[in-house]
Amino acid sequence: MASVWMDGRFYEKDQACVPVYDHGLLYGDGIFEGISVYNGRIFKLKEHLQRLYKSAQFLMLNIPYEIEQLADLVLETVHKEGLDRGYVRLLVTRGTGDLGLDPAKCKESRVIIIADTITLYPREYYEQGISLVTVATRRNQFDNLDPRIKSLNYLNNILAKMEAKQAGCMEALMLNPQGYVTECSADNIFWYDNGSLYTPAVHLGILEGITRNCIIEIAQNMGITLYQGSYGRYDLYNAKEIFITGSGAELMPVVSLDGRIIGDGSVGTIYKTLNSAFQEMV
Ligand code: PMP
Repeated sequence: MASVWMDGRFYEKDQACVPVYDHGLLYGDGIFEGISVYNGRIFKLKEHLQRLYKSAQFLMLNIPYEIEQLADLVLETVHKEGLDRGYVRLLVTRGTGDLGLDPAKCKESRVIIIADTITLYPREYYEQGISLVTVATRRNQFDNLDPRIKSLNYLNNILAKMEAKQAGCMEALMLNPQGYVTECSADNIFWYDNGSLYTPAVHLGILEGITRNCIIEIAQNMGITLYQGSYGRYDLYNAKEIFITGSGAELMPVVSLDGRIIGDGSVGTIYKTLNSAFQEMV
């Protein structure tokens, strides 16, 4: 049973309800974070909270707590649930308003903290790797709805995920409107070629993933050259290894993309090395 904290009190999972006039529900007007818990400790909580507050700043969404207060509330919820290994979903919605768009009608934003568990992919996929397909749905253009904002409107990503599933793949590779590789529906992407690691630059329109930043740090510490730039599918088709990263999925190897076998089609050594280093880190 998950613990849910909302607007100042705790609820059981099936008792935690949001009013139908909440603009998070009516318009996707809100933001969220997905945070992993390892050994009862919340991984990179500060970084997740900083990203949440930056999303809020962009959307002019008031978070009625100081960052330290919110950190304490997240910790309290996790400890109440007695989570050892789990997942926190932290949400801030515009709050209850009326049926019009006007956010000014929402007097108080709503803060929700859910402490639970999550399994995104079955264990065997981490040993075998997954297949990706490039989907027709382009990642949101950064000057329209900047993908750095982790908003409650995830339709762009959901459409991409549906396309991938329809094509028989676990995940979607999304391009930006100019055709540059961005990320997957809920994960960032890396590849290895010519002794270097590559990942799309943030300005192309991606979520600046916390796990992505961990991999960048790990690569730097290991002396692996890492490039963040503009790349096309050609670069990925010819990579030796590809893997994707996210708080829920951690590091997942990719063995095929658009029907092209990547490298020798097995889970690569760079993936294994970086994955071990990441597991050490968490
Ligand atoms: N991209 C998108 C679109 C995401 O939703 C996520 C989070 N699931 C990620 C990348 C990975 O980000 P993080 O490592 O911070 O979980």
